[in-house]
Amino acid sequence: MSREEVGSGQLAVRLGEEGAALRQAQAGLRRLQAREQLFGRLLASVNALLWAYDWQTRQMLYLSPGYERIFGRPAGALPDALADWLACVHPDDRDYVLGSLGEVLDKGAIERREYRIVRGDGQLRWLSDKCYCGDPDEDGRARIIVGLAEDITERRQLESELQRLASIDGLTHSSNRRHFFECAQRELQLARQYGTPLAFLLLDIDNFKRINDTHGHQVGDQVLQRLADCCVTTLRGGDLFGRIGGEEFAALFPRCRLEQALPIAERLQRSIGALGFAAGGETLRITVSQGLVGLEPDDADLGALYARADAAMYQAKRQGRNRIVRL
Ligand code: GH3
Ligand code: MG
Ligand code: MG
Repeated sequence: MSREEVGSGQLAVRLGEEGAALRQAQAGLRRLQAREQLFGRLLASVNALLWAYDWQTRQMLYLSPGYERIFGRPAGALPDALADWLACVHPDDRDYVLGSLGEVLDKGAIERREYRIVRGDGQLRWLSDKCYCGDPDEDGRARIIVGLAEDITERRQLESELQRLASIDGLTHSSNRRHFFECAQRELQLARQYGTPLAFLLLDIDNFKRINDTHGHQVGDQVLQRLADCCVTTLRGGDLFGRIGGEEFAALFPRCRLEQALPIAERLQRSIGALGFAAGGETLRITVSQGLVGLEPDDADLGALYARADAAMYQAKRQGRNRIVRL
């Protein structure tokens, strides 16, 4: 075999090897492209936004397609993405969002990070944005923060609706006993803190059992509903009002002395007395007994105030009902 023949044979072998390597690299590239497409499809179908941020260069490295869905606008140029993101955050939550982002570097992760964004169309959305530190680099410091942001607006709305339902009385839609006393407790603390006056009122329908017995439970229910409506419209904006028992209601007047609360209680008495209920071909009227007290330095807690108002209310009953007694 001549030298030329040996040389061309080796060239053919080398070309063959390079061709195989090229085909292998192409196959590898196709596999990578297929995987990228798969990840792209997965990220697009996940109902959340995945993001990565370089804390050192202050650049957003990645935003998944969820950004567009949640924020209602395209991610745009990545370097400005953080600024765009922050511009959408509700002004009251902006400091928290930035602060907690830095905090994650010390803590390693922040699991519960909830805040509001205001979309371009004016919609307010709640996000739950968990974030974690990526792997540390050579100097042992993590600099990449990765996050998973989910739109939790519906859950938040449901929670606040449940909270609302748990705080109102189903029949009269006024505050229930638990909620009324929670709010009253807060007002009492404020009154103590700022040394402001406060008045407390208990109101009980007179001979209500007789209304039920004579006209039926349904008419009784109607009386409770209309009485609650009447109280809410008669009381002032900042006053608290609630149904604390079957036919027993309470009101609290913040920053109000007993003498200032008395005309309000008298107005209630008149408005309630003017209510008329159609029952058995006649117009039924009701009266109430009220116990009214003002906060005194000796009142240890809300219980003390309540006990005095209760005593005043029972005194009103004993004195013949349809009256206000203040203690
Ligand atoms: P007093 O003047 O001494 O307060 O007498 P009263 O009849 O109003 O008081 P009493 O405590 O004897 O009766 C209260 C009644 O309220 C008994 C109860 O059946 C009725 N009641 C409690 N809750 C409801 C309710 O949700 N709907 C109706 N219709 N009645 C209720
Ligand atoms: Mg009663
Ligand atoms: Mg009662």
